[in-house]
Amino acid sequence: MVFEGLAEKLQNTLHKLKGKGKVNEKDVNDAMREVKMALLEADVNFKVVKDFVNKVKERAIGAEVLESLTPGQQIIKIVNDELTILMGTTQSKINFSSKPPTVIMLVGLQGAGKTTTGGKLAKLIKKQGKRPLLIAADIYRPAAIKQLQVVGGQVDVPVFSMGDKQNPVDIAKAGLEHAISNGNDVIIVDTAGRLHIDDELMGELQSIKSNIKPHEILLVVDSMTGQDAVNVAEHFNEKLGIDGVILTKLDGDTRGGAALSVRAVTNKPIKFAALGEKLDDIEIFHPDRMASRILG
Ligand code: GDP
Repeated sequence: MVFEGLAEKLQNTLHKLKGKGKVNEKDVNDAMREVKMALLEADVNFKVVKDFVNKVKERAIGAEVLESLTPGQQIIKIVNDELTILMGTTQSKINFSSKPPTVIMLVGLQGAGKTTTGGKLAKLIKKQGKRPLLIAADIYRPAAIKQLQVVGGQVDVPVFSMGDKQNPVDIAKAGLEHAISNGNDVIIVDTAGRLHIDDELMGELQSIKSNIKPHEILLVVDSMTGQDAVNVAEHFNEKLGIDGVILTKLDGDTRGGAALSVRAVTNKPIKFAALGEKLDDIEIFHPDRMASRILG
């Protein structure tokens, strides 16, 4: 499970503090040095780590904490609070439009998990009583359209496609029209990814965006890619403007750095966490629960 290494290190470090009757400034500094190392090893962005450690220190070194009866426990609570804040404090849901259809555009690098996540989201949204339509606008990756059709079939959600010979912008526009005339109140557009960010891909996504005016542009980020994921998120946000992030592969043996950095770097909420290949393996992202998971 994600964060295992980080969780173990943080728990060990903080456990030492908890055992102490009295804690002084040096104890806090020593512990924070270990926390810093653990976060860097988990591939959390350097600046994010620095800010995080400084904030915890500032709060922990205050007289009310050090002179309290349970300083160790209070410091653990501060770390827990700050981890929660780092990941966004509160859960963030999809903003459904009051004028359907709600338009959701999934973007991200190839292999991040867009197509799979499209199916997962469609299933989740359908469970809420809505009538989603998946739109296959990835015409470049071989078999992407077929994959979306299979996924759609599994979750019993229709898939709009025009094959791979049409322009993705036209496909997205036609898909939206199709949704309107068929009473679909949510569309989820599966867009193309590339192995690396390139201008052509961004240009295409920008053009889809200006044509179908999404209510939600959700960036699908593979959490196995650590800090790289954060660079990707920063770039997509700059060029396209994203509304939120979906972290995938949190079930993997990842170091977790992306989950802890992406919110701070983009200032955009993490809306969902995907935890497996099955189409039920998705949940609303809860920063507080994730923090508690890390601190044990
Ligand atoms: P796309 O290129 O972005 O559309 O990515 P795909 O949806 O094809 O996913 C790429 C691979 O990652 C596939 O083998 C998926 O089964 C796998 N995958 C997607 N999401 C998850 C996840 O949350 N956990 C795990 N373990 N694998 C995932």
